[in-house]
This record gives sequence, structure tokens and C-alpha cells, in this order.
Amino acid sequence: RIAYVNGRYLPHADASVHVEDRGFQFADGVYEVIAVYKDQLIDEKGHLDRLERSLAELRIAMPLARTALAQILRRMVRLNLVREGLVYMQVTRGVSPRDFPFPYAAMPTIVVTARNKAFPGREVKAATVITTPDQRWARRDIKSVALLPAALAKQKAREAGAFEAWQVDGDGFVTEGASSNAWIVTKENVIVTRAADHNILRGITRMAILDFARENGFKYEERAFSVEEAQNAREAFVSSASTFVMPIWKIDNVAISNGEMGPVAKTLRDAYFDAMDQLAND
Ligand code: PMP
Repeated sequence: RIAYVNGRYLPHADASVHVEDRGFQFADGVYEVIAVYKDQLIDEKGHLDRLERSLAELRIAMPLARTALAQILRRMVRLNLVREGLVYMQVTRGVSPRDFPFPYAAMPTIVVTARNKAFPGREVKAATVITTPDQRWARRDIKSVALLPAALAKQKAREAGAFEAWQVDGDGFVTEGASSNAWIVTKENVIVTRAADHNILRGITRMAILDFARENGFKYEERAFSVEEAQNAREAFVSSASTFVMPIWKIDNVAISNGEMGPVAKTLRDAYFDAMDQLAND
């Protein structure tokens, strides 16, 4: 395997960043994950747009031109023989003696890795979620590498045998999963997902799903929903670059279906795969 670090393509095992990198010292950096499916980068534009936005919010300079980054991503997919899997990229504020304020002269660090990972296909069994208090900061719209609350939430999910942890704000409303956006379908067949303000990450998959919902004539609302509303919903699912649309059948100990994918989730998941197949055939 090959990793990209600051302009160099290195054997993965030898690739490293400096001990004084601010990503390591302060979680002073941002990242993106892009799915590769049938050799194609999925939703590339949205992910690169969001990377630029996250960097701008933290006043970290984009270390290279977007076209150059796009070429590196493609080269990493080829070098690592990725047909289906994930490309990960991280940009930090760079290396400087440890001190809280921004360094005057640090070059941003950029790291890219890529690996094969088989995704579940169109037909997928529904998964389960648990809920946990949302312990993150107030700017969840920035895709920062400060992922300790997410790691704690995921570990809690794993120990409970669940696929994902839905984080719940102080008012009892679900914000989003530890690494995914959260969705329900009400008994009136309305799709609901939280509005994309500073309380959640504006998922790129989320935006694609809203387009597919419109194209399929589904009603949808961008608003908060409580754990109780979710437990009384007709369907639930999560979305992310690595799961696309993943149906959920159980929330904490409340089953909302028999474990099969619901019709709305199925339509949206199919729409995603249709769009990805189309991209591969173009
Ligand atoms: N919310 C959080 C907190 C996430 O970490 C992710 C995945 N990175 C998502 C939502 C989903 O975003 P996307 O669809 O862009 O992968």
C-alpha cells in the first residue's frame, strides 16, 4: 500500500508526520472521506467543496490547487488498486513548536490514504442504533479531526452490539450519528432529517439523498426529531459516504420494523446505486 504525505508517495508502513504536527498536538485539522465505487470517486465535488469550507472556517490555507488534489486522489486510487473502497484525506495546520495560537509560518500538512473495502450491495439487512448524549463542541458543521466524542460514542455502540450511535442534544432531539446523518420516515410518509446548521455536519450523502427524495416525489422536512418520535416512526435510516443509505430497524431497545429495509429507504438506496452505476458507465 502507498500513502501520500506532503508531495511524496511512500510505502504505507513508512509514512508518518512530525511529532509537533498540530493535527497530533491540537486536533488542528480537517478531513474528508470519499467512497470509491466501480473505480469512480463518488460525490467528489461535494467533498472537495466541504474540505475547502472546513479549511476556510479554521483559516488554514488550502495547501495545493483543487485540480492537483483531484489528481492525487485518482493516483492514490490507482496505486492502491482500489476498485471499491475509501479515500481518506486530512489537512492540518502543519508543524510548529507546541503553542496554542496559530504559528506564523507553518506549511499545512496533507495526507491521503486509500484502501479497498467491499460495501454491502443494494440489498442490505437493516442495522440497529443506540442513543447517547451529544458531547461535541458547537461547530459540528466543520469536519474537524477532533473525533474523541465520536470514538466514545462508537465504542458504546459496539459494546451494545449496535451499528451506530445517535447523538442526542440537551432537549432530547437527535443531532446525528457518530459518523452519519440520521433520518426517519413518519407514519404520514414524510422523510425527516435535521436541518444543516452548526449542530450537525452537512453530509454530502445527505444532500444527494434530498435530491433523490425530490426526484421521487417524496415529502420531506428538515427539522429536529426526538428519540421518541424516531421510535414511533415507520422507517429510519442513516447516511454517509461509506453507507450511502443504511436502514435502521431498532433504536435503543425499541424495534420499529422486523429488520427488513423499508420501502422509502429502499427507493433511496436504489437511487444512489443507480446514480453510481450511471457514473461508472458514462
Ligand atoms: N455526520 C458526521 C458526524 C460524520 O462524521 C459523517 C461522515 N463523515 C456524516 C455525518 C456523513 O457525512 P457524509 O455523507 O458527507 O459522509
